[in-house]
Amino acid sequence: MGSVPDPAPIGGSPSGRLRVIIAGGGVAALETGLALADLAPDLTDTTVIAPNTEFVYRPMVVREPFAYSSAQRYELARIVSDAGAKLLEGELGWIDPLARTIHTKAGAALEYDALVLALGATVTKRYPHALTIDDRDLGETMHGLIQDVEGGYIHKLAFVAPGRMAWPLPLYELALMTAGRAYDMQIELEITIVTPEDSPLAIFGSAASEAVVELLAAAKVQTISSAYAEVPSSREVVISPGDRHLSVDRVIALPELYGPVVRGIPLGEHGFIKVDPHCRVPDVDHIYAAGDATDFPIKQGGIGSQQADVVAQAIAAMAGASVTPERFNPVIHGMLLTHEEPRYLTAHITGGHGFSSEITDTPTWSPGRKIAAKYLAPYLEERDRQRVSGASAGA
Ligand SMILES: Cc1cc2nc3c(=O)[nH]c(=O)nc-3n(C[C@H](O)[C@H](O)[C@H](O)COP(=O)(O)OP(=O)(O)OC[C@H]3O[C@@H](n4cnc5c(N)ncnc54)[C@H](O)[C@@H]3O)c2cc1C
Repeated sequence: MGSVPDPAPIGGSPSGRLRVIIAGGGVAALETGLALADLAPDLTDTTVIAPNTEFVYRPMVVREPFAYSSAQRYELARIVSDAGAKLLEGELGWIDPLARTIHTKAGAALEYDALVLALGATVTKRYPHALTIDDRDLGETMHGLIQDVEGGYIHKLAFVAPGRMAWPLPLYELALMTAGRAYDMQIELEITIVTPEDSPLAIFGSAASEAVVELLAAAKVQTISSAYAEVPSSREVVISPGDRHLSVDRVIALPELYGPVVRGIPLGEHGFIKVDPHCRVPDVDHIYAAGDATDFPIKQGGIGSQQADVVAQAIAAMAGASVTPERFNPVIHGMLLTHEEPRYLTAHITGGHGFSSEITDTPTWSPGRKIAAKYLAPYLEERDRQRVSGASAGA
């Protein structure tokens, strides 16, 4: 058997800088890139590898079925370049950690000194008879349903969260906005949310959850919590425990998420990437992960960004920057879109539940965007500001 070649020395780029590869072109990848540009700009050579050419602001997709403006899209190459990094259009295929090399699906091999896996999760339809909330086509799929509500063809809807659910906020947002649209049009519509959560948006802790209960009650949206649903047909939901049946006109469901299943590294349950408190992947050197791809149970852009910041600190320190790497200490911020003004929820997370929970009418974080990200949020804020001022100058 041939011996494993020694990996190139750290900082093996011609410039002597640390070679960083970030796999992914979503929130966690871009936050890592922008953070590195701040923490170790002259000490790192960063390459982002991703198949997508656009970065879509996924949380705002929930407004599209209601004919509000589309979710914002940004050219990926511009963001990567603004972070001082190079973009390689392609996909990570597999990793050879001993040789510190990634292999792309197209067959190229790239060496790294630090590798960041920000590959996101795979969205899977849990209930074949339900309409699944998938941001890639949500505007299209839900728009028809909203038209049917407006036309008075639909009178009962169920919004269902499976046991292993994705980020739950969109389920509540869609339920509240649909209820509001029906109310405006004076259409009788019964909406029931079925969720395994102990209470609505329990992740944000009891104070915020109780306020969400009131919001739902005011919108006449019923909630059945601590409940597991099956959807045997497009017009029926069976709820356990209790074997209760709901007859409805349509069922809308959150998807289930699975990890990206990367060959060459240890994976946790359902293909998610294991990480330690510094977001390092255990048992392999110089590999980090952030975002929905990791085994942290809350799949949210703000959480992924906090992981990305922890990763960037660890890499910046490795590159020689005077940065003390912090541990991942999640704080969760959520902007809940409703039919009226949004509400802002915050919780410090421990053991999967919120504590020091609060709900406010104005954001407690800045900029008060849907995805609370230290670097990406102000960057996008500035890009949006430039776009608006450019448009008004051209008008
Ligand atoms: C409808 C909806 C509403 C949401 N609302 C909120 C909200 O209000 N607030 C909030 O914080 N979060 C919200 N989220 C969650 C948030 O969007 C995700 O948590 C976040 O996008 C995860 O970021 P990520 O970078 O880990 O993964 P993603 O954003 O999924 O990005 C993964 C990236 O990896 C790339 N990729 C995949 N495979 C490969 C490969 N083999 N090689 C290279 N690149 C690859 C993909 O092309 C993509 O660019 C919402 C999500 C949805 C769907």
